[in-house]
Amino acid sequence: MKPMLDLKKQYAGIKDEILAMTSEIFESAHYVLGKKGAELEENFKAFHGMKEAIGVASGTDALHLAVRALGLGPGDEVITTPFTFFATVEAIMYVGATPVLCDVDPDTYNIDPVAAEKLITKKTKAILPVHIFGNPADMEKITALAAAHNLKIIEDCAQSIGASLNGKMTGSFGDAGCFSFYPTKNLGAYGDGGMIILRDGEVADEVRKLRNHGSKGAYRHDCLGYNSRLDEIQAGVLLVKWKRLDEYNSKRRENAALYTQLMSDIVKCPTERQGARHVYHQYTIQSPKRDAIQAFLKEKGISSVIYYPIALHMQDALKKIGYKEGDFPVVEKVSREVLSLPMYPELEKDDIRATAEAVRQCLNG
Ligand SMILES: *Cc1c(COP(=O)(O)O)cnc(C)c1O
Repeated sequence: MKPMLDLKKQYAGIKDEILAMTSEIFESAHYVLGKKGAELEENFKAFHGMKEAIGVASGTDALHLAVRALGLGPGDEVITTPFTFFATVEAIMYVGATPVLCDVDPDTYNIDPVAAEKLITKKTKAILPVHIFGNPADMEKITALAAAHNLKIIEDCAQSIGASLNGKMTGSFGDAGCFSFYPTKNLGAYGDGGMIILRDGEVADEVRKLRNHGSKGAYRHDCLGYNSRLDEIQAGVLLVKWKRLDEYNSKRRENAALYTQLMSDIVKCPTERQGARHVYHQYTIQSPKRDAIQAFLKEKGISSVIYYPIALHMQDALKKIGYKEGDFPVVEKVSREVLSLPMYPELEKDDIRATAEAVRQCLNG
């Protein structure tokens, strides 16, 4: 099967540097909270123009610790999208706050700011947009909404590192930006990892305590915390890939442009809004014949994945919130029709052509 992504191929291109880096770290015998993590944090700060950056153990922890350090808790409502990976709402629910789900824009699959505004109540304390598939959410409207209603903004950038809107990086619009280094993400470690970027120094101090057992050091514990640090090995791997991030994302964009050129007359291709730089964590098409396309691709030996087949409001884990089928018509239609195709920087143009041709054959045949 032609894969969704090929991490072996990527490794082959950076192997010498990765081995030199990991060897240096192994020999330093400094494995947690050291120089590599600090260097990566500096890179994140500079790249995003944010005051603070803190490495943590995963993207889920980045969201969780951001939500917690910003003071959200029981009784608070956080507006977010039902079209995302489950971790987005887990982070809200870990602190006892309530996720208030909001339907999405039919073209970008990101939170619809007009629908979001209607959901604001006295209890609403924050909005948590996800830049799904690497496509920036409508942050101009979202920041205006947040300013008008005094809401915190936490951006889920797990899929959007390097994506921007009118030159401004995703993650830098609000109070916190949360990143994942899960191996399949656009900047992937060789294990789990995450990063939080923040505007406020006091919130950052709180996150630094939370990631390290509620401690500023020397076995003094101010509060209950967690063990959630980014280790040096992962930070070292990420530093090697960091230098190539722009090249990787540019190649994804080239690959996406070719897919779109070859298929825009037969399926709905991703929409890049004016001023947006989409980084195509996924290349996702939409068609009412989605299931037939997926079966046909499989026959041809081409992988494809449905992100996401079940919107969050239909998940058993959220039953107690009381949503039902029909609550979010756009998300429900999108969940029935989307299909993500192979996408990674090293993907060959001929493979893109073969995949596009198979989609065409399926729809014409
Ligand atoms: C991957 C992902 C997460 C979780 O990140 P982990 O590092 O796997 O914990 C959160 N939100 C979204 C949208 C993701 O894609």
